[in-house]
Amino acid sequence: MNKRLTSCLKVLIGSGIVALCVATSAWVAYRLALRDQQHLASQLAEQILRRNERISDQVRSALYAMDEVAKDAPCSAKARSLMARIVLRSSLLQAVAWVREDRIVCASVDVKDVPIGKSDFVIQEGASVRVSRQLPMIDPQATFRITQALDTGYAVIINTELAFDILPQTSKAAVGIVGSQPGQVISQTGTWQPAWQQRLDGTGPVSFTDADHVVALRPSGRYKYFAYAALPMADVHAAWASAARVALPLGLATGAVLTLLVLAALRRQAGLPALLRQALRSDKELYVHYQPFVDLQTSRWVGAEALIRWRRPDGEIVRPDLFIPVAEQHGLISQVTDKLLRMVRRDLGELLRQHPDFFVSINVPAQDLLDEGFAQRLAALVREWGIAPLQLRLEATEHSLIDAQAAHVAIARLQALGHRIALDDFGTGYSSLSYLATLKVDSIKIDKSFVDTIGTDAVTAQMVPHILDIGKTLGLRLIGEGIETAAQAAYLTEHGVTYGQGWFFEKAICPKGLEKKLQEAHRTS
Ligand code: C2E
Ligand code: CA
Ligand code: CA
Repeated sequence: MNKRLTSCLKVLIGSGIVALCVATSAWVAYRLALRDQQHLASQLAEQILRRNERISDQVRSALYAMDEVAKDAPCSAKARSLMARIVLRSSLLQAVAWVREDRIVCASVDVKDVPIGKSDFVIQEGASVRVSRQLPMIDPQATFRITQALDTGYAVIINTELAFDILPQTSKAAVGIVGSQPGQVISQTGTWQPAWQQRLDGTGPVSFTDADHVVALRPSGRYKYFAYAALPMADVHAAWASAARVALPLGLATGAVLTLLVLAALRRQAGLPALLRQALRSDKELYVHYQPFVDLQTSRWVGAEALIRWRRPDGEIVRPDLFIPVAEQHGLISQVTDKLLRMVRRDLGELLRQHPDFFVSINVPAQDLLDEGFAQRLAALVREWGIAPLQLRLEATEHSLIDAQAAHVAIARLQALGHRIALDDFGTGYSSLSYLATLKVDSIKIDKSFVDTIGTDAVTAQMVPHILDIGKTLGLRLIGEGIETAAQAAYLTEHGVTYGQGWFFEKAICPKGLEKKLQEAHRTS
């Protein structure tokens, strides 16, 4: 690729990642600031509601107590002394009074004939409310709310501030109590916006934001009103700005680190074919580990799969599922197979000659499998090697055998040389029964993803009996791969699977380890 284009691409990737990280951290900081304010608003609304319910409880019991007084003497000495006692007993009421024609006729304090104006609205249980009344004879600075029982005329006088004195002095919150019917603002410190009431849906507390406020509404379960608390949106923005001072540099730093990692991964990915070419030339980087096949009936090790390994000069291990596809894409896969065969011959040449009933199995990519030249090279190698062709088995994946006709020819060619062929990763492709029948492979390796489901209730667990049936119908030998538990091994043994492979028995081990284990097994048998 053109060098300038590559640098442009890097800058683009880098700025994309950094922008994404910065935007994410800014968004997270904003959500946190908003969540804090919403929490605060909810708490305030809750406190205001509780306080007001206590006031309402005391109002209710005061009006109830005044019911005892004879109807024809509402301002008698007895009545006024009861008024005084009620006020003394209650913590939240300032005075009790008797009202007629919008005037206080008498009260628990010494007043007479005070005009208080028409009631503002009627709330539940036949009580009317007057809000924000000035009563200089009680307190010239304060405003009062007067709740009057419509049947008896008795009324309770409450200092408006009392409902809100639980708020911290510095709070910028607007709070209040609003009746359930529209337009019934019972008391408040801020400015209630009637549109907010539409947010109540009858199911309980709600929180929301509008352009300027974070609002919480809490309806009372016992009275026909709800409390509100509204905090200025400006506070969210201020909290966001201060959180962003930490979050943004953090986002920037994360973005920068991620960019470096992504660019390094890209650079490595782009450089992998060159590194692999180098590894193929070297004698030190590629090597082979061997994972045994275990006869499930006798527990004997009958063979081993050759699995290639790559350790780079800097010690880094590159996994085969990463570099094998790269080798396939860059036309290096045949060299990998050739190298593998040479290494297997070096590692196991002697062992295979000493144990003629032991076999090694290699993974053959589609390109080699279908290539006539590969079959010829293999035949020559086996002759030089001095082993029986049955001792070198081949594994091909379902995916590599898409072209049925070509695959059939290739498999027949290799079988004619005396090799056995296994279908690897069976169950992950689309092979139909008839397709499998034409292929004429010798065995199938049930993919690890199906073995994993044995004994679980995963949907794919139902596939295992099907796969076993297919194998039996076609008379194929079955091999279970990736067996990790005794239960999986037992299930497969019981259901006629011949060989097992997996960490339950042994991981892929070095050739010396394999040799040692085989010798031990021979001594004990
Ligand atoms: P595969 O042929 O299906 O090999 C099985 C993989 O599963 C191996 O991974 C093996 O180490 C791993 N394995 C075996 N038993 C267990 C188990 O019980 N649990 C778990 N979690 N894993 C288990 P590996 O060696 O990393 O190979 C991955 C893939 O790379 C192979 O899948 C094969 O497709 C490819 N590969 C490996 N070596 C070669 C090679 O020499 N040539 C070619 N063409 N491909 C190879
Ligand atoms: Ca395999
Ligand atoms: Ca496999």
